[in-house]
Amino acid sequence: MIIGGGPAGSSAAISLANNGLSVAVIEKRSFPRDVLCGEFLSHEVIFALRSFGLFDEFLALKPNRITNFRFIPENGSSAVHPLGFEGFALKRSLLDQLLLKKAVSAGATVVQPAEVVSLNRVNNIFEILCKTPNGVNSYTGDFVVGAYGRQSIIDKSLKRKFVSSRSGYSGIKYHVPKELLNNISRDEIQIFSSNGIYCGVNCVSESESTLCFLSDRNINQLDPKYALYELLERNPAFKALFFRDPIPALSKLPVYGTGNIYFGKRDVVENGIFMIGDAARVIAPLAGDGIGMAMESGILAARILTESKKIGLTAAATESLYKKEWKKLFSKRLRIALNLQRFALNSRGGNIGGQLIEHFPSLAEIMIRWTRR
Ligand SMILES: Cc1cc2nc3c(=O)[nH]c(=O)nc-3n(C[C@H](O)[C@H](O)[C@H](O)COP(=O)(O)OP(=O)(O)OC[C@H]3O[C@@H](n4cnc5c(N)ncnc54)[C@H](O)[C@@H]3O)c2cc1C
Repeated sequence: MIIGGGPAGSSAAISLANNGLSVAVIEKRSFPRDVLCGEFLSHEVIFALRSFGLFDEFLALKPNRITNFRFIPENGSSAVHPLGFEGFALKRSLLDQLLLKKAVSAGATVVQPAEVVSLNRVNNIFEILCKTPNGVNSYTGDFVVGAYGRQSIIDKSLKRKFVSSRSGYSGIKYHVPKELLNNISRDEIQIFSSNGIYCGVNCVSESESTLCFLSDRNINQLDPKYALYELLERNPAFKALFFRDPIPALSKLPVYGTGNIYFGKRDVVENGIFMIGDAARVIAPLAGDGIGMAMESGILAARILTESKKIGLTAAATESLYKKEWKKLFSKRLRIALNLQRFALNSRGGNIGGQLIEHFPSLAEIMIRWTRR
């Protein structure tokens, strides 16, 4: 049983069903649905889509191709750097629906909309209770995969240690119509930074760009929306991105946002539940690799659970194998991404970063490659 049908849950479901296991995905919301995300798709996402035989269907959704990266601190100094791989941008509503549909065609059962509200484990059998529009249903299974994203009521019921931590990081996303923007290079992802905030902008379709930012209230103490207005004041290149004062238009657009994004450590197996994607750990968004990591961790969990079933590993041995392989695959990436994020959120760091990149253009490429090792 997989709780959550985002990229992590769908990838695990596709892999488990392809390996011949019986699998159910329980997803809280009806699809298509939108989520907070910069919607930049890294090389890892494309690799996973190809491995699922989904690349042609993905291209049919007309994703925007991205080949370059530009970091623009307050002083406006910037240069364009090749990503060194082919990236894309596509609305999450479309990507997540593509993946969940594939899980169904691979043989997974999808229960949706259904919110898991409690979990019990008796003699190594799990019972899940979920709220649906028709009442409460229960499901049983011998493995549970937690793919419910960075925060859910399940964390509280499992008494996960990080639940009470206040990080101060908040994120917000808008889909901005192209009429609001000056010439934006379709092949670039642009990161604008200022004290305590950075904002990523990339075209996500023919008619819209995703504007997504992370704000650190420990530094700027502002409501995230106002932090964006401050970025407009402090970073002239960001202001110049817009045709006219964007505040009246932005205030009318739908907002996808969240407070308290916790980037610290979490246990990747809790009460026998195998956590994948953001439920296992949230990677700093600046690396643009959260979706890739969610999909990779889903594929990893599916491989280990399949092996465990095949050779009859004990629950304890399966858990320790997953913890070991998860750490090997992601620890270094997580650490580097967090350091890059600190660098971009700190105004001094941001400006130094801009100067460094100006004088050592290969540094940007190295930064991008580092996070992908
Ligand atoms: C500001 C910001 C910008 C980002 N930008 C990017 C980017 O540009 N590129 C990138 O690769 N990554 C980015 N990320 C990270 C990326 O969004 C996440 O890493 C990714 O969505 C994780 O996928 P997931 O499947 O683990 O979780 P999610 O995508 O969050 O999916 C979890 C699913 O579980 C469901 N669910 C939750 N609780 C329950 C429940 N109790 N019962 C049933 N279902 C439940 C939810 O409805 C949801 O559909 C960004 C993150 C932030 C915060």
